[in-house]
Amino acid sequence: MGLSKSTLSIVDAMAASAGSKDAAMGCMKLRSILKRGDIMAIDKVSAEWGELLFDDRDMQERLPKPTYKELRRVIDEGAPLDLGIANEVAHAMKEWALEKGATHFTHWFQPLSGITSEKHDGFLTPNGDGTILMAFSGKELVRGEPDASSFPSGGLRATFEARGYTVWDPMSPAFIKDEVLCIPTAFISYTGEALDKKTPLLRSQNALEKQAKRVLALFGRAPRRVFTTIGPEQEYFLIKEEDYKARPDLILTGRTLFGAPPAKGQELEEHYFGAIRPTVSEYMKELDDELWKLGIPAKTKHNEVAPCQHELAPVFEAGSTAVDDNLLTMEKMKLLASHHGLVCLQHEKPFEYVNGSGKHNNWSISADDTNLLEPGPDPEHNLQFLVFLACLVAAVDEHADLLRMSVASAGNDHRLGANEAPPAVVSVFLGDALSPVVEALIHKEHVDVASQEMMDLGIPQLPAILRDNTDRNRTSPFAFTGNKFEFRMCGSQQNLSDPNVVLNTAVAEQCERFCDYVADRSSEDFVTVAMRFVRHTFRDHQRIIFDGNGYSDEWAAEAERRGLPNLKTTPDALGALMDPDNIALFENYGVLSEAELHARYVAKAEQYAKLINIEANTMSYMARHMYLPALMSYSGDLANSVAIKAELGVASRAEKDIVERLTNGIDTIYDLTSQLEQLAAHANRKTNPSEQDALCRDEVIPAMEALRAEVDAMERLCGEDYWPVPSYNQMLFYV
Ligand code: ADP
Ligand code: MG
Repeated sequence: MGLSKSTLSIVDAMAASAGSKDAAMGCMKLRSILKRGDIMAIDKVSAEWGELLFDDRDMQERLPKPTYKELRRVIDEGAPLDLGIANEVAHAMKEWALEKGATHFTHWFQPLSGITSEKHDGFLTPNGDGTILMAFSGKELVRGEPDASSFPSGGLRATFEARGYTVWDPMSPAFIKDEVLCIPTAFISYTGEALDKKTPLLRSQNALEKQAKRVLALFGRAPRRVFTTIGPEQEYFLIKEEDYKARPDLILTGRTLFGAPPAKGQELEEHYFGAIRPTVSEYMKELDDELWKLGIPAKTKHNEVAPCQHELAPVFEAGSTAVDDNLLTMEKMKLLASHHGLVCLQHEKPFEYVNGSGKHNNWSISADDTNLLEPGPDPEHNLQFLVFLACLVAAVDEHADLLRMSVASAGNDHRLGANEAPPAVVSVFLGDALSPVVEALIHKEHVDVASQEMMDLGIPQLPAILRDNTDRNRTSPFAFTGNKFEFRMCGSQQNLSDPNVVLNTAVAEQCERFCDYVADRSSEDFVTVAMRFVRHTFRDHQRIIFDGNGYSDEWAAEAERRGLPNLKTTPDALGALMDPDNIALFENYGVLSEAELHARYVAKAEQYAKLINIEANTMSYMARHMYLPALMSYSGDLANSVAIKAELGVASRAEKDIVERLTNGIDTIYDLTSQLEQLAAHANRKTNPSEQDALCRDEVIPAMEALRAEVDAMERLCGEDYWPVPSYNQMLFYV
């Protein structure tokens, strides 16, 4: 039972005649509850849902009908936006935001740093007669002009022409955050080049939509919209705020740069899906509440494998919206932790010796309401599915280097290939249901497709269940999981735009190839031609398909034999951005120009070198100012004790031995710190970011590892009271 407009208008009238601000606010709250659904059955989640999101229902309700219709044409069909419409939308948005207590607005965007940016402007406009007006125009909605000089641009924009514009993305609804109306925008330069993560994502979505529609047209289908769906599973760590504050490495770099192994790690496998402790549960509840108010469909939460590690998974959403919502989720995760005395770590590898954090990018394509990667009961004869599957396999094979590049970062280098996350080699897992189909297609045989079998549990009291026809290969970087692909190489703190730009564009290219293939054989029967395309594509790209254990050494060797790239580090992976084939791909589909790609290459290369340099600086700071003084103090006290005991004629073998080892350790740490400083300074002096990166990989990181090893060895000898930072034992197992 929905509520009629008249009920709402009664509440509106009550609000208008309310005697006090509180009463008016009460009416407002009631109104939003009524608006959200059936008052008889209102539950907490439905009542909160989307309260702070200016969604389609708000637009429909608040905009004149013709304006709403025109806006939907802009959103759904990419019709040009008229300033008159923008003015009306701005007015409705502002009225809505003021009712929710907002005082400011901001254009919310994603510069090349990958995190979101905002600058708050008040609605407040003086009238000239001492009164004020709360104003917001269509122009302000549509375009902003932040001083763009301080965002990474990879050299696309010199400081003297630093102008950049933020441009409203009407496809992503506005929302309120901390009394600020946030308007999702794209960020472009004065000359129209993309300066952000969102612009190429939107362009790649359009490219894929266009080509996928052409494929579907050959199957006699004309969907209104074709779009990708993305469900990002976000992993994170929570630690106590007091521990965080005591560790400069966590504060400055997001990860521990030192730390002896804890007595216990994750080997008992007790944390994964374990009962959630109360502090964490309170945090997760507040997080869910806040996300639901923003219309973010947070659905699943659980403890992850490593101690202190957790995961949040939302219900999938359409492409760029899912990416926006993931960024908002990450921001809320960090901010709300402080309410619970916790800090949320989103770095890919906060702690050595236990798992790091990733972000699985679950990805599919939908045509209106139909998932195009749904194989159905008979995939062998589902030609449309097979065409899209073949396109995907070919796309991943041809641009595996780009996919690897899209997730390359200093943080993620600690995960990929480290036996806890996918290897650095990209391959596709198809599973028991599809692999035999593909095999048979290649060899032109008929195959009995693995059907979903009933599982006999041998316990009559339990309900019989169907066995899924894909198992869960956790070691594959790109796995088919029933009706979507799961790209598992993404790092936990990454903006998901980059991998999705690559996926969308690479698949668009293969879709076009299919259309061309069919067009070139227009005299032949479509089904025969399409089947031949599928067969040839699988045959030509079979090397990328691998269903085995991605962590095994045999696979690394086999992958090399197959000619698959194994790009182990970020400096190795970034070159893919400058590869002529890859440049041609992005240029052909109008996603990124060569200049834009070059800028992205420079921005990523610079970011890597800067991060490594900050880590090196932090290590030398901690070694000189914390670890060396602590070790000197402890060994000094011990030496005194040895001397006093010697005077008394009591010899302590242990004390003497520890003093000697500590003294050696102090000297070694002293030398290794100087070496690290020299190597970091040497890398830093290079002006070419590729050279800097290579030096970071080959010289600075090994020097960091050597210093860490010595400090960690000394941690095991040093008295706990003397040790200047909380240990892994203390941080990872709080209650
Ligand atoms: P698991 O941990 O087993 O991989 P989760 O339930 O944690 O599974 O996450 C699966 C994710 O995949 C969810 O975010 C879900 O919404 C998403 N997903 C499901 N179907 C699709 C689809 N068609 N397109 C994109 N994402 C999807
Ligand atoms: Mg999960």
